Amino acid sequence: MFKAFLIKYGEIGIKGKNRYLFEDALIKQIKYALKDAAAFDVTKQQGRIYVHMLGSYDYDEVVAALTRVFGIVAICPVVICDDPSWDNLTKVVGDYIDEAYEDKHFTFKVDSRRADKRYPKKSMEINADIGEYLLERFPEMSVDVHKPDVMLNIEVREKTYIYSKSIKGPGGMPVGTNGKAMLLLSGGIDSPVAGYMIAKRGVTIDATYFHAPPYTSERAKQKVVDLARIVARYAGPIRLNIINFTDIQLAIYEKCPHDELTIIMRRYMMRIAEQIAREDGALGLITGESIGQVASQTLQSLAATNAVCTMPVFRPVIGFDKNDIVEISEQIGAFETSIQPYEDCCTIFVAKHPVTKPNIRVIERSEHHLADIIDGMMEEAVRDREVILCESDI
Ligand code: ATP
Ligand code: MG
Repeated sequence: MFKAFLIKYGEIGIKGKNRYLFEDALIKQIKYALKDAAAFDVTKQQGRIYVHMLGSYDYDEVVAALTRVFGIVAICPVVICDDPSWDNLTKVVGDYIDEAYEDKHFTFKVDSRRADKRYPKKSMEINADIGEYLLERFPEMSVDVHKPDVMLNIEVREKTYIYSKSIKGPGGMPVGTNGKAMLLLSGGIDSPVAGYMIAKRGVTIDATYFHAPPYTSERAKQKVVDLARIVARYAGPIRLNIINFTDIQLAIYEKCPHDELTIIMRRYMMRIAEQIAREDGALGLITGESIGQVASQTLQSLAATNAVCTMPVFRPVIGFDKNDIVEISEQIGAFETSIQPYEDCCTIFVAKHPVTKPNIRVIERSEHHLADIIDGMMEEAVRDREVILCESDI
């Protein structure tokens, strides 16, 4: 029944040149989201974006794909009437209502627009006449011009577009409109959610994962690839850098006080991620840290970790309770994968009693024990990294 979708997007603050950038990025993301779902054509007409379906397609699949495109506020499925004659238009509108609303006990209002001014009826007349036709055909329906249950939109152009339903989109901004950032992606619950949230603001995502073979398995690494592909459903393809962190972790374990292991390890993760970020043109780092969640996320620990970064570090779940993060994780489809029980490189070398209030000076002094070897090890880890392009898994 629906031959097209009208895409509604947030327009506040996107005037002038920004508007074109926003719209073009949105069109690009729509094309990417639908590339495997159907044949279609995306057009921009008078400040509106339409997706025209060419031939048959799976409605649910297309709607699901569109609801993953950031920047879309609402998706309206559109019936298109090719023959502009009045008799035909009324019939198409009536048949649409008949099919779209099984129960006809609702109030409605017709809101028509006449882009083609040669059309013989003015919009007020179209509203009144279509209303009258519908009341006659479906006596259970009634008109309410102030707060209708159903707003029936009719746009007369070279063809006539009819729509009344609106499916909520994810909001946010199209990926590609706000630069790039580097996500520190672990196999946990929090970092995929953090990546999703920053991508929602239009930021392109690259990712870095630190693994420690043989202490962490191939399966643990595969889990991170799986998570990257889930985030890619929304964020688009993600370049995942996989860093072999084993030697660095062993060196820290050997040379530094054990209660400081986690903090020192986290500082090296940030340093390495920032170095790759810089090479890749990313402008910030993203982590899934949340205040107080674990010893390495007290304010003192966050300050100690943050101190080694020169780029801004985005921590979008910083003020969230675990429950709130889990809710988003479930909603984006990552939770089931995140809770698979594979070891994490942080959990292997943890101390029984890690410092919860690290002093940056003390940590720096401990790191001094690594001075002669660490630069070479970091260089090697970055140079020998594996890069996997993670595309959406659906
Ligand atoms: P998550 O659920 O994201 O793993 P977490 O609650 O387990 O978070 P930590 O293990 O303290 O918390 O990690 C804090 C943040 O550091 C993570 O959200 C992630 O951004 C980053 N991080 C931790 N371990 C790794 C890793 N092995 N590879 C890449 N990033 C990591
Ligand atoms: Mg973790």
